[in-house]
Formats: sequence, C-alpha cells, structure tokens
Amino acid sequence: MQSFVENNRREPQKVDLTERLKNFEEIYRFFNNRDVRKQADRCVQCGDPFCTSIGCPLQNHIPQWLEAIAARDLERAFLLSNESSPYPEILGRICPQSTLCEGACTLDDGYGAITIGAIEASITDLAFEAGLTIPFPSRATDMRVAVVGSGPAGMACAHFLLRAGIGVDMYERANRPGGLLTYGIPGFKLDKAIVERRFALWEKAGLRLHLNQELGGSLSLETLQCDYDAVFLGFGATRGRRAGLEGDQHEQVFLAMDYLTQIQRRAFSENWDHRYDLRGKRVVVVGGGDTAMDCLRTAVRDGASSVSCLYRRDQDNMPGSVKEFHNAIEEGVTFRFNESPQRILCDENGDLSGVSLLKTELTEPGADGRRQVRELPGSDHCVAADVVILALGFDTEEIPALSALGIETDRWGQVLVDARTGATSVDGVYAGGDCQRGADLAVTAAADGRRSALAMMERLLD
Ligand SMILES: Cc1cc2nc3c(=O)[nH]c(=O)nc-3n(C[C@H](O)[C@H](O)[C@H](O)COP(=O)(O)OP(=O)(O)OC[C@H]3O[C@@H](n4cnc5c(N)ncnc54)[C@H](O)[C@@H]3O)c2cc1C
Ligand code: SF4
Repeated sequence: MQSFVENNRREPQKVDLTERLKNFEEIYRFFNNRDVRKQADRCVQCGDPFCTSIGCPLQNHIPQWLEAIAARDLERAFLLSNESSPYPEILGRICPQSTLCEGACTLDDGYGAITIGAIEASITDLAFEAGLTIPFPSRATDMRVAVVGSGPAGMACAHFLLRAGIGVDMYERANRPGGLLTYGIPGFKLDKAIVERRFALWEKAGLRLHLNQELGGSLSLETLQCDYDAVFLGFGATRGRRAGLEGDQHEQVFLAMDYLTQIQRRAFSENWDHRYDLRGKRVVVVGGGDTAMDCLRTAVRDGASSVSCLYRRDQDNMPGSVKEFHNAIEEGVTFRFNESPQRILCDENGDLSGVSLLKTELTEPGADGRRQVRELPGSDHCVAADVVILALGFDTEEIPALSALGIETDRWGQVLVDARTGATSVDGVYAGGDCQRGADLAVTAAADGRRSALAMMERLLD
C-alpha cells in the first residue's frame, strides 16, 4: 500500500470520441485485475478515513476493500464492498465521487484522490466475471414486506431484507424495474444490463416482481398493509418543472424526463413517440445539473445539428458533476453561461424558432453565503432553436391514496419520516429516496432503503 508517490491516479480509459458518439454504450472501460490492484495500492489506509466517514452516505468500508484488492484478494474485496452497499457496481459508475468519497479523500489535495468509484465498479464486475456471487440465506422466514417502486431506494430496501431472509414483493408502475436507473440515466453512463443483472440475482434470491402495478391505481395501500408485515414506499420524484416562461407549453418544448424516457424506450425497441427524434435539429437545453448533461449528451448522439446548454449562473456554480460537464464539452456541447431564458420564440408558421434571453450576473454573497442571479436590463438577445428541453428539477407526484390513509407529507408533497428509521406517520409504513428527500442521488436513496430495511428487521425479527 501507500504507493501514491510513484503511482499516479489514473481514470479508467474512455472509448474513443468518434466511436463513442455512434451509440449509447458506456464510455468508460473499467479496470482489469492488474490496474485495479495498482490504483487501490495508492491508498494510505488513513486512521480516520474521511472517504468513508465524511464522503460516503453508505459509510462503505472503502479502505478495507481497497486493501483487500491491493493484496489480490478479489473475493474478500467483493464481499466487503457488497456488505454495506446494495449495488456497488452501479454506484461506482454513477455516484458524483468528486463531491463525495473522492472529494473527501486525504490524497485529493496534491496527489490525486484514489479512484474509488472506478475501483468499486471494477471489483464487482471482475468478481461476477470470475463467477463469484452474493450470498443470500437459503431458508427464508415467513415474513413478507411490500416494496412500492423499484428504483434505487426500493432496490436497496429489497436487497437488505432478502439478505435477512425476509420475503419481498416489489410493485412497480413501469413495465421494467430500476426506476431512474432504467428510464432516466442514459446507457452511456450505466449499461442497462448491469441493472438487469442485479434484478436477476434478487429474483433468484426470492424477490417477487410485479410490474405495471400502480399504487393509487390498481394497487391500494390498505391492501398492502393487510397482506404484508410492513410496506416501504420508494416512488421517487419525477414530475418535471416548467420554467414559467412565455410559450413554454409549445409542443417542441420537452421536459427532460419525457425526452430521456422516450429515447430509452426506443433503445429497448419499445413503442416511442417520434416527436422526440432530434436528428438534424438545433437543440437548446435549459439547466445546469446532471439531468441537463444527460439530455445534452443524448441529443448529440441522436444526431442533433447543434446542442447548447443555457445556464443562469457561471461554470463554477453548476450543480452537476464536473466529470459529466467535461464529457459533454468533449462530445461537442456548447455552454452558454450567465444567460437567463425569458420567452420561447416562434416563426410565422408557429414553429419554435428560438429562445429570447437576458444576460445575468451573480450578486455578492448574502448573509446566507448564497449569490443570487441578477438579470441585466437591456441585454436582450436570442439563440436559435428547433427544440427546447427543460431540465429544471423535479417535484414529488401527488398520490391522493397516501393522504387519505393519513401519511403526512410536507408542503412540497415529500413524505415525512422519522430520520433514524424512515417510518412514516402510519404504523408499519416506511419511505425513502426521492419521494421523501426530494430529487437527490442514487446513493442517498440507497442509504434510505437500507435504513428502513434495518428498522424493519429490528421490528420483525425481534
Ligand atoms: C436524468 C437523470 C440523471 C441522473 N443521474 C444521476 C447520477 O448520475 N448519479 C446519481 O447518483 N443520481 C442521478 N440521478 C438521480 C437518481 O437517479 C435519483 O435520485 C434516484 O433514482 C432516486 O431513487 P428512488 O428509488 O427514490 O426513485 P426513482 O429512481 O424515481 O424510482 C421510483 C420508482 O417508483 C415507481 N413509481 C412511481 N410512482 C409509483 C406508483 N404510484 N406505484 C408504483 N410504482 C411507482 C417509478 O416508476 C420508479 O420506477 C439522476 C436523475 C435523473 C432524472
Ligand atoms: S481517504 Fe483516501 S487515502 Fe485515506 S483511506 Fe480513504 S481512500 Fe485511502
């Protein structure tokens, strides 16, 4: 260990740019056995490992699995990594590590953080390739839990319950499981086969998956409460926000999730709405987060004639991952910073022709440390566009059946829970992930799902 002085941080290789843009395949080629050991060997095994204690919402045993893989013990590294995380090969691919574990790594200042995410993804990929598998108990208890929503929160809850021998029925409104891992995050960040592989493992371990079942539709919470020992709600927050701009109801103004979902449906060879075909179009995406980056990079691969991003603040204040921003630039996206959209413009035929804009500047930080956006009067100008995609954040969907049952929510519709257990105001019903905390990250949804699974175990297995 501790080879960080002679051994530099190295990112996994990216597929060549021209090849990459021809399809929606993952762009990173993760480490082989030799490279994963070499990168892990850089770790200094800190006494107080900030990567874990500060950087990781799951408090993964990062130094321990780094040490194991550096010592050529793939099986131990795999088991340690899969002990606290329900799907490390997925989170290793999509977590914004620069603001989490790698941002907290002691070596980040000066030597380059350990490539924790890429090592994490590589360990489990290599272990599965080598035929290793996750142990699940062979005999289950007679307890059963209903999990509503098959995204990262529901997946994590199901994983830890199955590992404790508790049966799980998962109810999902869509025709495929995985939530935003399947229908939101594009294939170039996360290959859908990786998600399917996890579900295959859980189904083998006894998970019963019920697709096309909607809570509040054909599925009632009262029935679930009667039929199961506990219920977990992980129904996400995917109701897209409009900008409130004049003209933003135009049919060529898309919400990010509608666009990404349709393109993924096409990738699955399912029916899709051909209005979302962006070939030859000038595309403007409004927003500066990860969803905006995903729309931009999807539009490039879709054959748009130009793709630009409008963001009201500057580059330093973008909320998205720095890695994805650089990938977008590399792939030909133009960024227009400090520009605020005012109005959708149409030509004489009513077709969308552009967006009118004002320039902005950021104010000095206020008492709360935040810099506000100030629009500059008289700076009107416009950008030409055929399609505008709004990537401005998400709200929780209202499910009237929840309030009818007395499940308390806040004024944004997010489910209120006990912070330690994820228990809602109704006995035996738990919640977590985006439907409880608002649109956030896969790893925080995973931590919420695990939290409720542990609380249910305490209650059911006592
Ligand atoms: C485009 C995009 C890119 C993202 N990129 C990243 C990233 O790179 N890294 C990262 O960490 N996070 C990313 N995120 C955020 C991350 O995907 C979410 O925080 C995470 O998926 C939340 O998990 P969840 O289980 O709470 O909800 P979801 O993933 O939204 O899953 C909820 C599930 O519940 C189902 N459902 C909803 N209502 C009902 C109902 N009434 N009955 C039955 N089922 C229902 C939905 O169909 C869905 O399958 C991204 C989000 C988006 C939109
Ligand atoms: S903070 Fe960095 S160097 Fe320290 S234990 Fe974690 S990964 Fe290793």
